[in-house]
Amino acid sequence: MLKATNISFGYTSKEVIKNISFKADKGDYIAIIGESGSGKSTLLEIIYGLLHIEKGNVYWNDEKLLGPNFKLIPGEDFMKYLPQDFDLMPYTTVEENIGKYISSQDKNKNKRVRELLKVVDMTEFSQTKVKNLSGGQKQRVALAKVMAKEPEVLLLDEPFSHIDNFRKNKLRRDLFKYLKSKNILCIVATHDTTDALSFADKILVIKNGKLIAKNTPEKLYTNPKSAYIASFFDEINKIPLSEMDSNLVSKNTILLYPNEIKLTEKEGLKATVVSSYFKGSHYLIEALLNKTTLFFEHHKKLETNQQVFLKLAKKTIK
Ligand code: ADP
Ligand code: MG
Repeated sequence: MLKATNISFGYTSKEVIKNISFKADKGDYIAIIGESGSGKSTLLEIIYGLLHIEKGNVYWNDEKLLGPNFKLIPGEDFMKYLPQDFDLMPYTTVEENIGKYISSQDKNKNKRVRELLKVVDMTEFSQTKVKNLSGGQKQRVALAKVMAKEPEVLLLDEPFSHIDNFRKNKLRRDLFKYLKSKNILCIVATHDTTDALSFADKILVIKNGKLIAKNTPEKLYTNPKSAYIASFFDEINKIPLSEMDSNLVSKNTILLYPNEIKLTEKEGLKATVVSSYFKGSHYLIEALLNKTTLFFEHHKKLETNQQVFLKLAKKTIK
C-alpha cells in the first residue's frame, strides 16, 4: 500500500502542496484532478522522490521512502514516473527505446517488448526511429517504456495529452486493463474527464495545493461538494434559490448538471433561449433565467429568444 501522510511542500517559502494525506492499494487506479497550477505534477514528483519534503512522509508497504536528499539517484526502483515532457532517445528505434529498460539476460525480453508494443498499439512502428514519430506516437512509446520493467507503482502525468481522439479511448481501455491484470498501482494526474470518471477507482481533487475531496467517481459526480469539483465533470449550473422562488430571501445556490434540467410543455420556470450548441447526441442549450445563465440538454435545436419552461431536478441545497 502507498501512503502519504500530511505532506506539505513549497518550491519557495510559499507552500504549493498543503497537508495532503491519502492511501492507495496495489492495483488501484487513482486519478488526481485539479485546475492547472493546483499542484498535481508537484504531488507526483514528491511521491516519486524527486522533491524533498520537509513536512510529512510517503510510505510504501509501511516502509518510509527517504526522498532525494538520501539517495544517489532520485526515484524509487519499484516506481516509474512519466513526466509531462516524456524523454526518449530520438535516434534509436521504438523497440530499442522500450527494450532498454528490460535486462538483456531476461529470456522473455522480446516477448515483453512485443506485448507492450501491442498495449500501446505501436507494433507497426517497432523499427521506426523515435525522431520520426508524431507527438502522440512518442507519448505512446513513452507509456510502454515506463511499463517495461513492470513497476509496482506507475505515476503518469497527463499521459494522453498528445493522443488524438481516434485512438485515445481504445488506448485507455487497453492500458488500464493491462495495469489491472498486472496489479500495478497507477496514479494519474489528468485534466481529462473520461480518464477519471470512466476508469478511476478513486479521484483526488486538488485546489491550490489542498486535497479538497477524495471519493469514487460515482460519489463525486452525483454529489459534488462544490462547483469547482462539478465543473470538472460537466458544464455546471449554479442557480441561486431566489431565482427559483421569488419569495425566498436566500443567498444559497444549487448545483445542477445540464442533464438535470428538462424542458416542459408549460409548467416550471420561464427562461429565454440564448444559443444552441450541437453536441452530436443532443444540443446544449444556453438560456437566461432572469439574470442567471443556464445550460441544459435538449434533443433538438431551439430558436434564439424563444420562451421555454424548465423543470429542475430536486437537489440538496449547498
Ligand atoms: P499542476 O501540475 O496542477 O498544473 P504544478 O504542480 O505544476 O501544478 O504547480 C503547482 C504550483 O507550483 C504552481 O503555482 C507552479 O507555478 C509552482 N511551480 C511548479 N514548478 C515549480 C518550480 N520548479 N519552481 C517554482 N514553482 C513551481
Ligand atoms: Mg502538471
